[in-house]
Amino acid sequence: MPVRLWDKKTASGTVSGSMRIEKIFEIRTMRQVYKLAAITTGFAVMIPVLTFAIPFVFFGWPYLGVFAIAFFPAVLIPLLITPPIAILILNLFRVQALTIDKVDQYIRYDTLTGVLTRAYLLGKTRDALPSGGAFMMIDADHFKKINDTHGHDVGDEALRKMAEILRKGVCGEALIGRLGGEEFGVFLPGATESEAAAAANRLCDLVREEGRVIGGNDIALTVSIGCAVHRDGNSLESTVKLADEALYQAKRSGRDRYFVANATKPMPALALKGRITG
Ligand code: GH3
Ligand code: MG
Ligand code: MG
Repeated sequence: MPVRLWDKKTASGTVSGSMRIEKIFEIRTMRQVYKLAAITTGFAVMIPVLTFAIPFVFFGWPYLGVFAIAFFPAVLIPLLITPPIAILILNLFRVQALTIDKVDQYIRYDTLTGVLTRAYLLGKTRDALPSGGAFMMIDADHFKKINDTHGHDVGDEALRKMAEILRKGVCGEALIGRLGGEEFGVFLPGATESEAAAAANRLCDLVREEGRVIGGNDIALTVSIGCAVHRDGNSLESTVKLADEALYQAKRSGRDRYFVANATKPMPALALKGRITG
């Protein structure tokens, strides 16, 4: 797997030569810039010092005057020129590393809610699929009405609350992301159908309880959830599609509920299990 400069986890790992090279350029603070500039200046000064020292050892005192005249500018020039040039170049490396960190943040994390972005969630889910698990699609109910009634800011606050509830409601290894708009995706590694159903049930309950009032507004937030357990040989896309179909069924049958798709049955004769809430 290629190691990327901005992948702190892998870059701080062990062995590989490429990792070590990338670590040299992991400059993020001005302190590192000044330290490396001082080392570079040391080398730049050492070179003329050694260059003069070697013939001096051979030819000795008679040539001291000649050496003295040439020696000082040869040392003084790198001493004056190297620090600003080194600081400039190293600072460019620092800015580049910080920019990559920032871009990486945007690629990985949703700016509004802090959960994973769609692309990153699906990428990580794809990596985790061989070990099995269940994918959940979670969509806020009548969200447009919340925006229209209370304003976009309150809608944003509701989305942040949803993300917080998702983090609280699923296990630590779960991958949580925002698929877009008011729709979230959760991958539960290794989860069986009944475990996915239990998680979905818990999330519906939590959102109903904790989303009643948001920022002092009577929101009565609820979610509908579609779950699909990944089957060997299926693609990520087909598992997500099954979850989407199950979500659609949850919406169609009244919202504030979940459905689990039975992927062993062919589409569209999708076998669905649901919980009908009062
Ligand atoms: P349903 O129960 O069928 O899902 O209805 P809905 O109103 O939730 O679905 P619809 O797709 O009609 O509307 C989704 C709304 O979500 C419309 C859009 O304005 C809102 N939305 C999407 N992204 C954001 C966001 O980032 N912030 C806010 N505040 N609203 C958003
Ligand atoms: Mg919705
Ligand atoms: Mg939606």
